[in-house]
Amino acid sequence: MAKFVRILLLFILLLSAVPGADPPTVQGFSSDSATSERAWEAIFKAVPSPEHLREYMQRLAARPHHVGTPYDKDNAEWILARFKEWGLDAHIENFDVLFPSPKERAVELVEPKRFVAKLEEPPVSIDATSNQQAEQLPTYNAYSIDGDVTAPAVYVNYGVPDDYEQLDRLGISVKGAIVIARYGGSWRGIKPKVAAEHGAIGCIIYSDPHEDGYFEGDVFPAGAWRSRDGVQRGSVMDMPIYPGDPLTPGVGATEGAKRLPISEAKTITKIPVLPISYGDAEPLLEALTGPVAPAHWRGALPLTYHVGPGPAKVHLKVKSNWDTKRLYDVIARIPGKTEPDIWIVRGNHHDAWVNGAEDPVSGTVAEMEEARGLAELVKQGWQPKRTIVYCVWDGEEEGLLGSTEWAEQHADELRQHAAVYINSDGNGRGYLGMAGSHSLEKFMNGVAKDVNDPEKDYPAWKRLRLERIANAPPDQRDEVRKRADLRLGALGSGSDYTAFIDHLGVASLNLGYGGEDGGGIYHSIYDDLYWYTHFSDTDFRYGRALAQTIGLAVMRMADADLLPYDFTGLADTVGRYVDELEKLWKSKSDEIKERNTELEEGVYVAIADPKKTLVPPKAEDAPPFLNFAPLRNGLDKLQHSSEHYDKAVAHAAVGVKPLDGVNRKLTQAERALTLPDGLPGRPWFQHQIYAPGLYTGYGVKTIPGAREAIEQKNWKQADEQIVRAGQVLENEARVIEEIAVELER
Ligand SMILES: [Zn+2]
Repeated sequence: MAKFVRILLLFILLLSAVPGADPPTVQGFSSDSATSERAWEAIFKAVPSPEHLREYMQRLAARPHHVGTPYDKDNAEWILARFKEWGLDAHIENFDVLFPSPKERAVELVEPKRFVAKLEEPPVSIDATSNQQAEQLPTYNAYSIDGDVTAPAVYVNYGVPDDYEQLDRLGISVKGAIVIARYGGSWRGIKPKVAAEHGAIGCIIYSDPHEDGYFEGDVFPAGAWRSRDGVQRGSVMDMPIYPGDPLTPGVGATEGAKRLPISEAKTITKIPVLPISYGDAEPLLEALTGPVAPAHWRGALPLTYHVGPGPAKVHLKVKSNWDTKRLYDVIARIPGKTEPDIWIVRGNHHDAWVNGAEDPVSGTVAEMEEARGLAELVKQGWQPKRTIVYCVWDGEEEGLLGSTEWAEQHADELRQHAAVYINSDGNGRGYLGMAGSHSLEKFMNGVAKDVNDPEKDYPAWKRLRLERIANAPPDQRDEVRKRADLRLGALGSGSDYTAFIDHLGVASLNLGYGGEDGGGIYHSIYDDLYWYTHFSDTDFRYGRALAQTIGLAVMRMADADLLPYDFTGLADTVGRYVDELEKLWKSKSDEIKERNTELEEGVYVAIADPKKTLVPPKAEDAPPFLNFAPLRNGLDKLQHSSEHYDKAVAHAAVGVKPLDGVNRKLTQAERALTLPDGLPGRPWFQHQIYAPGLYTGYGVKTIPGAREAIEQKNWKQADEQIVRAGQVLENEARVIEEIAVELER
């Protein structure tokens, strides 16, 4: 659009908001500033274009670009050059991290017959970039320890703690065995961790066609789903302990940083691990005998799933180059005008496992179009109140390396200045996914109402609400219909927001469209331009919608008179988490009592088939009552102060007197939910309300300290952790109360 057309548009929009028309309301804005905000937003929304998104993707996904490759660096420099060309103040920040890449890999069946796994993804002729073998990272799991083991195999389903309880019932031990786990059910790094804790000496992870192969749909290249030889690469670092460079926990991996010896890095696996395709897994599973796997353990391969152990004997070998590689984080800054010391931080990664058109380039290109749009506004005279920081991260795939090292390096500044971190990763077609800090729930609902869904041509918010009604459990449908705002999912881990929310306590959001774009190319060589433009957001309209959605979120956070947090939604949702925690204790308690009763009644003896093995569980002491009062008291205070805050906002002279002091305090509200000594056994995770689960990894645990103690039946720790969670709710209530008082002054 030519510049004069935009100025004309701005003028028309300003005119359309003169008295007589309904004053537009935007959370945190006075009606005057909302009018000018909406005018700027209209200009911004017209900038992102599908053609640009496609061009950027063509460039960024043209060649493999994992950490340490020339094309990874080249991409970072190309993004930097675009930012500068658009007039942004940008630079690259480097870190040097431990990055193992494979030197030797082997999986073979040595008994009862011989089979050598291919460990390779063949090129597909129709897919132009699938033949760049020389630059592709071989199929492997990063941060697996080196090892060379031969042992009987045991099939362990997803390889999560529940599966090992099931194995106990079957009388099967994995001690000294190599486990075969399927992908799914947890973050992949959990599988070798739990296997090692149970005495296994090796771990093979395969993609069962039930999860993302022919069971779901036609396989690539005829369809979107995983083909016989497709392999999911991925990190197996023990990220629930800490993400980022394994050698520099808690500090930026700069040149002079103190580094642990590799042997002391806690997040490298204890046993060797390799991922394989279902083509390679089939002969291994076929060679297993022993009991037939429980019904919910069976996948979609054309065979009877047996658990083992043996007679399949497997040889597994992994050896890596344990190199240090350089990261290239691209950072751009738009200085704020009146509150420059409050930062709005936005990020998406640029590195991939291979070509990575979907993960992450589909998100990276949307972020670039946002940056171009904001740069356009600046050229036309817009200056945000607060400082905006755009980050394009390196090394996300291996362990959130670029974002974690940057956040650790700038921890003090971020704790002081950061109001929000807004993340995206890959983007697809469908519904708006919104997860994040519950204090941003009202804010995100407002943004989603002002962006159109490309397929329905009405707000993304409306479509998401209707989708939630369609898919809600019957007892929750009413809530979706009646509640003013759609709830945000809580954040666990799995992308670059982790260091911001979990370590630093910066209120965070993770956004992206999806749900209509399934497929099975995740972390394979087939995640490339051909696949994306045939099976995902083929015309890049959802890429444009994502750029519009997050661009609006950034602008509103940067421009609002009063930072648009809301604490009644937070108190409401945390109240649900407290209820869930009490229910969890109750169900654990009931489960233990019921099992003890059945043992006394002789149930297990009665149902044991003498021709099969069934090992009865052991009787356990019934759990003590826990004292939830500290949490209830904290929640009560949070509810009161959030209501007080709402009243204070309703009467505040927003847009009349400067609120920079109040805004600075508001940025600290999320920080109040952290404690500096973190969660039990993992001090890096400081947030007391959200964290990735120790044994789920991706999956979020809410009120994680207490929840995990209850799950592990550590009742003393549960009581202590309830006190700590209650304490942060009181801290939060105090901060909000102070702000309310200051607003009323
Ligand atoms: Zn990603």
